[in-house]
Amino acid sequence: MAKNCGCSARNAMTDEEFNARGYLFCDSSECKYPAVVAERDQLRAEKADLEIELRDYKMAADAEANRVDELTAEKASLEQRVRELSADLQAVIRKKREMEAAVRQARAEMREAAQVEVQLWIDAYPEDIWVEPTKEQWAAAHDALVGLGMTLDKFSGAIGRRTAQKIIDAIRAIPDEPQKTEGQPVKESGDAK
Ligand SMILES: [Zn+2]
Repeated sequence: MAKNCGCSARNAMTDEEFNARGYLFCDSSECKYPAVVAERDQLRAEKADLEIELRDYKMAADAEANRVDELTAEKASLEQRVRELSADLQAVIRKKREMEAAVRQARAEMREAAQVEVQLWIDAYPEDIWVEPTKEQWAAAHDALVGLGMTLDKFSGAIGRRTAQKIIDAIRAIPDEPQKTEGQPVKESGDAK
């Protein structure tokens, strides 16, 4: 089978003449065949390089895609964790507010109890029975006591001291922390979430 470089020199030869030369081209000075072959080989080499480059690029792109998938999953996991922690924090804040409310309520109850106790002591001496002394009676009592070698202040001081002590005792009965008793909202409840 005759090869044909397509040059005018080749076209001037018969197939027999061309084949007898043993070349694939006409060997004229204008023949483009060697340059075409060289360009072809060059292009093949470039294609092979590009294929290697493309393969490497695809591998890198796959690795990047995998990394993106991993990071996306990690991001979703972290976002879920943030939501969980936020919910936990909200539950803790709610619990803290409940406990603070319970403390306020317990202390208010203790204060009220102390006031009631002091008021009971006051009520034990109603003015219609223990009538408030007049200014003159205070003076007369003072004079009488002075005549006995004493002063009214001595007794006033003693009574005032006992009264103050009674009030302090009632205030000291208020504990720093509320005592947990049944029915108070401090207890654990399952609906805190
Ligand atoms: Zn040729």
